[in-house]
Amino acid sequence: MSGSILVVSGPSGSGKTSLAKKLLDIVANCYFSISTTTRKPRDGEEDGVDYHFISKDQFLSEIDDGCFLEWAEVHGNFYGTSFRPIEKALAENKIVVLDIDVQGHKTLREKFPKLVTSVFITTKNMSVLKQRLSSRNTETKEILEQRVINAISEMRSIGEYDYFLINDDFNETLEALTAIATASKFKQSLIDNDSFIKSWKI
Ligand code: 5GP
Repeated sequence: MSGSILVVSGPSGSGKTSLAKKLLDIVANCYFSISTTTRKPRDGEEDGVDYHFISKDQFLSEIDDGCFLEWAEVHGNFYGTSFRPIEKALAENKIVVLDIDVQGHKTLREKFPKLVTSVFITTKNMSVLKQRLSSRNTETKEILEQRVINAISEMRSIGEYDYFLINDDFNETLEALTAIATASKFKQSLIDNDSFIKSWKI
């Protein structure tokens, strides 16, 4: 495998998904991983585009079949990254962009320490996060409150990430994320030093 992995995490409402998807229009050779979830689709979400929406029973049987590279329970629902498409994209030398939570990041770091570059994206404060979540109008009040509580606990993992962005201005944050994605392709750890030296000596 020779591609790289760019993990984008942060609280729901931080804008990370929009930023990560926009990256595909700007940085060549990116592959956005579509996760599988047991969460119900929101208005406007499409199966196979935003997520693969499946039942809890199906999800549990996919875990048993070893279909997931990583999976986690987030906000009371299951979310997972399928193994096969990631393996294929890495073999095609792509930058695999994963919009996953802090647990997923931890798992991938352990599995692929040399391939992973990670970015934590958040808002400048909790009030802005609350505003963004409520203006999305996609969740009930209870779910919204749950997401804000989870945001606080997710923020405790910031120190595990390579980069940290405050998404105040979308275009500025996108510019920074583009720079990080571009630099991630040149990580020294992506190179097998011994074989490079062998080929360099001719
Ligand atoms: P949402 O329900 O708002 O789409 O996503 C909730 C959270 O689940 C977000 O933090 C998102 O990054 C995370 N998430 C989405 N897909 C995956 C996945 O495949 N694995 C993990 N670990 N987290 C995911």
